Amino acid sequence: MTDHAFRAPKGTRDIMWPDSARWRALVELFADVAGSAGYLEVVPPMFEHVEVFQRLGEATDVVRKEMYAFEDKGGRTIALRPEQTASVVRGFAEHRPALPYKAWYAGPNFRYERAQKGRFRQFDQVGVEVLGPHDPHLDAEVITLAWRFYERLGLRQVRLLVNSLGSAEDRARYVEALRAHFEANLDALSEESRATLATNPLRVLDSKRDADAELVADAPRMLDHLSDDAAAHFAAVTAALDAVDVPYTVAPRLVRGLDYYVRTTFEFAAEALDAAQNAVGGGGRYDGLAAEMGAPETPGVGFALGVDRTLLACDAEGVFAPPTAAVDVFVVDATGGDEAVVLADRIRAAGLRADRAWDGRSMKAQMKAADRSAAAVAVIVGEDEKASGTVTVRDLRGDGGQETVDRDQLTDILRARLR
Ligand code: AMP
Repeated sequence: MTDHAFRAPKGTRDIMWPDSARWRALVELFADVAGSAGYLEVVPPMFEHVEVFQRLGEATDVVRKEMYAFEDKGGRTIALRPEQTASVVRGFAEHRPALPYKAWYAGPNFRYERAQKGRFRQFDQVGVEVLGPHDPHLDAEVITLAWRFYERLGLRQVRLLVNSLGSAEDRARYVEALRAHFEANLDALSEESRATLATNPLRVLDSKRDADAELVADAPRMLDHLSDDAAAHFAAVTAALDAVDVPYTVAPRLVRGLDYYVRTTFEFAAEALDAAQNAVGGGGRYDGLAAEMGAPETPGVGFALGVDRTLLACDAEGVFAPPTAAVDVFVVDATGGDEAVVLADRIRAAGLRADRAWDGRSMKAQMKAADRSAAAVAVIVGEDEKASGTVTVRDLRGDGGQETVDRDQLTDILRARLR
């Protein structure tokens, strides 16, 4: 076995403390924001039958190039989920919960991508999905929840881009208009985009190549191809965003990587990050997806936010700091160790976080460990305290003041100090 076997595989990382604590805090905040609007958590499996993800579109990179698909020992073709919308909708089709079905989720996805900063092969998302209503106010609610979440994280440099892809028929007509536009100018198109054109004309709009810039800029605009119904839907979404003061930019060229979107699509860009990797989240409507998974025709809308990238954006803006201490209290036992067993247990049972030193270290070494732990308070017990049924409580952060207190009162005193 070579050394590299004992390193995290390319595109994966260990999220070590304190990053892991910040990660958890982000998910808890998200749960709070989603919960405030009545969304309930769903935990889908991390792998599915490959057909579930094929519904994302055979021509999408996510399915064609990046899927971790394999045959299991029972001969099934299984894929690690590259995203969770398809799984949540598959779960909806399977269980048929009452409508509207409002769900939130958090967890990892897997895509065989070119690993780089902000782009991983295992990355986490938090997201919501709602099945049932086609009400444009629901699109606005979903977008607003993401916006409020970013606000509560403390991110300020987030830009919301919104667009409408129209109904499935509008979209199909638009794709033909795009195809005609690009085909009429094939010579001016980069070779890569010519290949994209053959499979997925919409994705040509995503081209960042200089050679394509002019043709993309002159391309027909989706918003000019909307049916009256889709145009009215989009107008109602933007009016609702205006009503709750969520600022947005209409981005007529915004197409997203997955094929299932119709009508509203949106993306959040963190402007403190490099442009290539600044999409921190996105979503949209997918009115046809549930029916493709075997449910009756049921509209859906949702978004997914990248946890890894959102935290990078927090770093870039210097917000949402990681916690500094793993515990509140550090127990220092100069009597040989038995006292710490009991005191640590009691403090923990009182709902406080406590740690201690091990292996019969000297008093000095234990005090050092207490400092390193960043606990606010040390609880010190020596032979004198043991004999008199007391402990000494020392402040580790402020002036270092200390008091000797009765053991029975210890947890009350700690709670009062740590408030
Ligand atoms: P998508 O499912 O492609 O619409 O992605 C939604 C969000 O997930 C993006 O805006 C990113 O923040 C995040 N994301 C997608 N792919 C990756 C990846 N490979 N590594 C890290 N984050 C990702």
